[in-house]
Formats: sequence, C-alpha cells, structure tokens
Amino acid sequence: MRWKTDIDAGVQLCLHCRKLHPLERKRCDRCGSPLFQRKPHALAKTFSLALAATLLLIPANLLPMMIVHSLVGDDAGTIMDGVIYFLEHGEAWIGVVIFVASVFVPFFKLTVLFYLLWIVRFHRHAKARLGLKLYRLIHFIGKWSMLDIFVVALMVGLVQFKNLATIVTGPAAIAFMLAVVTTIFATEAFDPRLMFDHENQRSSDG
Ligand SMILES: [Zn+2]
Repeated sequence: MRWKTDIDAGVQLCLHCRKLHPLERKRCDRCGSPLFQRKPHALAKTFSLALAATLLLIPANLLPMMIVHSLVGDDAGTIMDGVIYFLEHGEAWIGVVIFVASVFVPFFKLTVLFYLLWIVRFHRHAKARLGLKLYRLIHFIGKWSMLDIFVVALMVGLVQFKNLATIVTGPAAIAFMLAVVTTIFATEAFDPRLMFDHENQRSSDG
C-alpha cells in the first residue's frame, strides 16, 4: 500500500508548535524552532541510547539495590531479592509492584524500542500501526518508570522505623535511575513517522 506522507506533499511539521511549512524552510516562522523533516539521526540516537540502557540494566539487576546494616551484620539485596522477600513474607502485592516497575517495564520498553528500530530499518510497513500503538504506550508509561525508586525509598523508611537497622540504597539504584533516564531519552529521540516513510524517502540515517 502506498499512502501519501508529508514528504510527498512537500511540507514539514514544526514539532514544537505544529505549524506546517514548505520543505525548504529551515526555521519555524511562528516559534523560531529549527525545522527537520524527521528528527535528525533518530535511528542512530535511539539505537545507541537503547543499547546503553540495556547495558545499565545488567548492574541494576545484579548489584545490590539495598544494603542493610544491623547489629547482626550487613546484608545486601538485589531487586529480585526484594521481590522474593515480599512474596515470601505475605506482602505479595509489594513484590508484584516492584517486579513490574523494576524488571518487567524497563525490559518491555527496551524490547519495544528495538522492535520499532527493526520496523524502520527493514521497512516493515505492515507493522507500522502496531509500532505506533506500542510507541504511544511506552511514551505514556515513561512517567511511571521511577516508581521503583519511590518503593525503595518507602521500604527504607518502613524498615528503619520498625527495626534498629540502617538501610542505604546500593549501587544498583544509580544504575537503575540512569537506565530509566536513558530509556526516556531513547524514546524521545525516536521519530515514529519513520515507520510510515517509503523506502526512497529515507534520508541518510533516518
Ligand atoms: Zn513552530
């Protein structure tokens, strides 16, 4: 199927104020923002940021998220240790919230981003509508990605209040936050219109 794109129509959209301009215009005459037919280097930027986020999720999941100092000694726990702890201690819903927010959602978002890149790179037009729905979904859940940090902060407060133990966040917390922020930038760098572009309309790297 060959649908008509903005490139066919010889226009480009200002992504800031949504005014349409002819293709040769370099700046928006209404808000002054630079104009691009598509976000510049969208594929390269999205790919590098998504790859960086994937690598950051490794220490985020393997290093301790919380370190407990108590009279009986020190104890460190990863994200999954926390999930298992709450599942075993009758607070299954907290375990489920932590699992969804810190394990499932980050990996899901990155899987979607790599899928979108695959659609663009290999011109899978038949998947473009599904890709757009998934893009909107990960854009929407982006703002909930820090939920886990709040859960950790809440747990630290609760445990410190109940016991004579000191809890500090471990190195995984920093890796996790960096992974979340990098994923948000990767999502922003992607231009979903690329999925609908025809092969001969692609600029050098998207
Ligand atoms: Zn504008």
